[in-house]
Amino acid sequence: MKFPVNYFLFALIFVLTACDTHGQDQTAATQQEHEKFLNNLTYEEVMSNESKLSKAERSEEEWRDILSSEEFRILRKKGTEIPFVNKYNSHYEEGVYVCKACGQPLFHSETKYNSRSGWPSFYAPIEEDAVEDREDNSFFMTRTETICSRCESHLGHVFEDGPEPTGLRYCMNSAALKFVSKDSSDE
Ligand code: FE
Repeated sequence: MKFPVNYFLFALIFVLTACDTHGQDQTAATQQEHEKFLNNLTYEEVMSNESKLSKAERSEEEWRDILSSEEFRILRKKGTEIPFVNKYNSHYEEGVYVCKACGQPLFHSETKYNSRSGWPSFYAPIEEDAVEDREDNSFFMTRTETICSRCESHLGHVFEDGPEPTGLRYCMNSAALKFVSKDSSDE
């Protein structure tokens, strides 16, 4: 019996896709699986940039499945969390903050500072192309929205009143971030 070439190609693509999930979160289908993926990220892995392999695209339903309702509201619906009482506002451990939606490394703790705004603030992204800017004209204001370049989730806003050397303040939502401690590589 002749084996159809397209079946072979399909099988090959399936195997390659299944093998190439390291550092990506394309397979998580539930919130628990997504949390497990984020919790298993190590500092070494994150700093090697393996999470930044390809665009992360999901349908609205799929984002709902892997994010909590608060995370979905902020990341996918451009929401803002309450200042001061959020998770990373006063958090100053050494490590990297990755995107809560897709795991892409976004900010290093070295650039985090106390802006007294009530939200975690950084003066620069970990790499220039880790985030993208978009004009935001909501609430009768003109602001610059910051999104994750990999999954296009809303992270917060960037303002031009930050400290040197950039003069920028990336004002982020804690719920849009996941902290990966520098100590995680030693475990
Ligand atoms: Fe992302």
